[in-house]
Amino acid sequence: MDRSDLIKNIQDFLDLLGFHGEHFKDTPRRIADYWEDRFKLLAENETKLQTGIFLSQDDLVVLANIEINGICSHHLQPFWGKAYVSYISTGKMLGLSKLARIVKKHAAMPTVQEKITFSVAADVKALAETPHVAVITEALHSCVWLRGVHSKSPAIVSTMLGYFREREHVRREFMELIAPYRTKT
Ligand SMILES: [Zn+2]
Repeated sequence: MDRSDLIKNIQDFLDLLGFHGEHFKDTPRRIADYWEDRFKLLAENETKLQTGIFLSQDDLVVLANIEINGICSHHLQPFWGKAYVSYISTGKMLGLSKLARIVKKHAAMPTVQEKITFSVAADVKALAETPHVAVITEALHSCVWLRGVHSKSPAIVSTMLGYFREREHVRREFMELIAPYRTKT
């Protein structure tokens, strides 16, 4: 990414919309910084995913309340909420921070919530080498809240794989474990 090109293009964007004045003076630089930070977030979480896989029994592991701070690829507007990730180990265990990093990695670049949800499930499935993975995300989208239908409704997306899809008692155990942490909006 060429930073000066980026700044110039953001300046053109502001000029085209007729946004100018004191408080727009540094906006192109600030937006460039913002995106540089996002790329750092992606790189950092990708690197730290390379290590920290342990052996374990067939436990059900849950990490609740993982922060999602995403940007929608349709409007480049923020969305934010929580992810709840679970898997049943078949011998490999991921460090708990890995689950959070997987979410952060997939939310770093502009994307859609549905894609975060199934990409996190796919990564956990691959890294922990287990077919049994559950991911629920819930998020408020500023593009839904502040434009269009102006609705402050959370979007909830769920991916259930393996036992979480096939066995009702496994799915129920997961839902009961995360229930106290689900956000009430
Ligand atoms: Zn959007």
